[in-house]
Amino acid sequence: MLTGRTRVAGVMGWPVAHSLSPRLHGYWLRELSIDGIYVPLPVRPDHAVTALRSVGAMGFAGVNVTVPHKEAALAAVDTATETAVRIGAVNTIVVDETGCALGDNTDAFGFLENLSLTQPEWQGKSGPALVLGAGGSGRAVCAALQDTGVPEIRVANRTPERTRALATSLGAGLSCVAWEDRAEALADVSLVVNTTTLGLQGQPPLDLDLHRLPGDAVVADLVYRPLTTPLLAAALARGNPIVDGLGMLLHQARPGFAAWFGVEPQVTSDLRSFVLAGLGAS
Ligand code: NAP
Repeated sequence: MLTGRTRVAGVMGWPVAHSLSPRLHGYWLRELSIDGIYVPLPVRPDHAVTALRSVGAMGFAGVNVTVPHKEAALAAVDTATETAVRIGAVNTIVVDETGCALGDNTDAFGFLENLSLTQPEWQGKSGPALVLGAGGSGRAVCAALQDTGVPEIRVANRTPERTRALATSLGAGLSCVAWEDRAEALADVSLVVNTTTLGLQGQPPLDLDLHRLPGDAVVADLVYRPLTTPLLAAALARGNPIVDGLGMLLHQARPGFAAWFGVEPQVTSDLRSFVLAGLGAS
């Protein structure tokens, strides 16, 4: 039941109907018996700046921000964390008691938490990594890998200008690989991550010959529709350890929930099954 004290958060995007975040946060709110609500906020691109600047004024505890508003959110918040500035995007806004909006990016945290919990043998120093894609999530993954001490992060993207822009802005440890050379760049990696939309339902699969990939290298895909992408299926078939995209989605949500509702939520197998059921329905 809603009360006058109910804390309000939500997710701003366009479109937003497909978002799993209301289901995910709703599960935690129910399980933890919190007087809070988390709502979908469909915000048209031409209203994004107004809506983003109004989060504090409207009395929200905060919001998640999703496609296509993450970059606009960085410009709209009152202050931003070093991580959000480095990645160039905000996915979580927390409003303080004075109404000021702090922007953070928890995608890097979510990726790394999920990777280290799913594949604990993998360490940053294990070896080079290949990141496919240089969009928003590619930037977050590269920042995460930098933070965990990966010695060399190879980035391959269809549009080379975006690869160069990412390598220039993030700097240390990043090198550019031509898109057509991506299979060769697998030779000595300990991790390969797909951050492109290839493999997503309705999109072509990622065309990547895994022939050169070391047998113990971890293969991660950020795509979670379907959960087992063609890339992950190919990696499984040759015995490589895999990490699917759903875990990152669950873990990136933790810091926002904790800040808005004051309780550290847990990522459990029950939560995963519950969100997975929503994935089937959406
Ligand atoms: P984005 O910023 O739009 O970037 C899209 C990327 O895909 C770019 O690198 C783009 O290359 C590449 N791409 C698109 N079509 C391609 C094609 N036909 N051939 C080669 N490359 C192609 O998107 P994003 O926000 O980074 O999201 C990327 C994917 O990650 C989405 O599927 C999203 O759902 C998923 N994601 C998952 C999580 C999670 O929690 N698991 C979090 C964030 C994102 P160009 O630069 O050449 O266009």
